[in-house]
Amino acid sequence: MEFEDRCLKVQEPKFDCLLFGKPPLAFLQKCRRQLLSCFCSFLLLPSSSASSRNAKGSDLFVPADLDDTLYPLSSGISSHVKKNIEDYMVEKLGIDESKIENLGNLLYKNYGTTMAGLRAIGYSFDYDEYHAFVHGRLPYDNIKPDPVLKHILKNLRIRKLIFTNGDMVHAVRALQRLGLEDCFEGIICFETLNPPCPPQGDEEPVIFDIAGHFARSGTADELPKTPVLCKPNVDAMEEALRIANVNPHKAIFFDDSVRNVQAGKEIGLHTVLVGKSQRVKGADHALESIHNIREALPELWEEAEKAEDVLYAERVAIETSVTA
Ligand SMILES: [Mg+2]
Repeated sequence: MEFEDRCLKVQEPKFDCLLFGKPPLAFLQKCRRQLLSCFCSFLLLPSSSASSRNAKGSDLFVPADLDDTLYPLSSGISSHVKKNIEDYMVEKLGIDESKIENLGNLLYKNYGTTMAGLRAIGYSFDYDEYHAFVHGRLPYDNIKPDPVLKHILKNLRIRKLIFTNGDMVHAVRALQRLGLEDCFEGIICFETLNPPCPPQGDEEPVIFDIAGHFARSGTADELPKTPVLCKPNVDAMEEALRIANVNPHKAIFFDDSVRNVQAGKEIGLHTVLVGKSQRVKGADHALESIHNIREALPELWEEAEKAEDVLYAERVAIETSVTA
């Protein structure tokens, strides 16, 4: 290898991005209409500043999940989400209460999210209404400000993104509660990947009997496809990274879901399972808490510092040549 090539290789940061799971409410509401009319883009936060970029500006990436990743499961938010989804299925879709638990489990297991499953088996509903029902009533006060995580993220001078299956307003509210709204360059959320649900016609929808299907065949073969794009669908994840201009081979993906982490690994991401102390297949690291990020991944800070050193050396060289 030639000397110059070796130098370039040494200077080239290993990771481009940290991918996490949410953004500021007022800002999101202001941008909502604009965002909804522009699905080919992801939400850029007003805080995307030099502090969230490394010296090369676009090399290292950290995409990360939000719920139960940036705040702990003990907040109880996820159990409220589950309850609200079940209430939506009964109150808005008219599903028999006795079938909810089994149906919800089957949909979540086979489609990644209950919502994606509901659309697959034939239900049609307004996505904004669904999200308002499921997330709009959450006890956001349970999510506490996290100045320790803020300090960690602010000192991690590489590009950081939220990558959540949740909707934009939820992502913003949760980030605001955490006090992390200025720590991320942008948000990849439900609206980034999914256009509005087409309006339902006058005809009664035909609902696929997924419980009956499994009772008869016991396999997931020949299940109807969902029109909803979300993690852990690898096509959805690749599309999200393409929209955000993230090279998966230079990004570290943080998520509390084993399925999402394994899908991330499949598309080439370096992966970190959050909330578990034991690594699983597909996870390069396991962190009991996101607060352990620096101890587990010291190379992230080393890479960022190395890139800053290169930038500093370049600036000095330019200034020296200008003043000489
Ligand atoms: Mg999560």
